[in-house]
Amino acid sequence: MQKDRKLLSEECRTFLRQVEEDSVYFPVPASSLDPSLSVSYVNSWMYERNYKEKSSHEGTDIMAARNERGLYPIVSISDGTVTNLGWLELGGWRIGITSPHGVYYYYAHLDSYADIKEGDTVKAGQLLGFMGDSGYGPEGTKGEFDVHLHLGIYSWGTGEEISVNPYYLLRFLESSRLKYQYS
Ligand SMILES: [Zn+2]
Repeated sequence: MQKDRKLLSEECRTFLRQVEEDSVYFPVPASSLDPSLSVSYVNSWMYERNYKEKSSHEGTDIMAARNERGLYPIVSISDGTVTNLGWLELGGWRIGITSPHGVYYYYAHLDSYADIKEGDTVKAGQLLGFMGDSGYGPEGTKGEFDVHLHLGIYSWGTGEEISVNPYYLLRFLESSRLKYQYS
């Protein structure tokens, strides 16, 4: 994330600094019981997506090595407030967390939620729910694609929407990955 930073606008540099300051944990804890339950992701920023109409991919997809919904826990990358929770046609069961600096972390396609609701305060590392394959249809649609977590990172601090490619942040956060017992 350091490369070419001088070329960015002041607003973008501020946003990146806020993302770095507020991001604490990788969003998918490792399994302390089964190391084969890994995840993988590639830099797919702005790749083409086709659901009803063409759109660009504003995020990173963290794919599950075992394509089983409800298995992999998802934790909050940052401290923050639950600002959105519920169904979206594209995002399925999604959660939006707004961090202390106003960075919006968007977690999509969950299978189920932990015991949290809109307005709750969460801590970095707190369980948000479980990875799934929900979305791309009416409420409750599952199985239209493989199990994964879609992560998006946004800011509206300037009045306009800015999004950042989560890929480099995720690489950085791999050294801050929690371990949970699941198999
Ligand atoms: Zn995605």
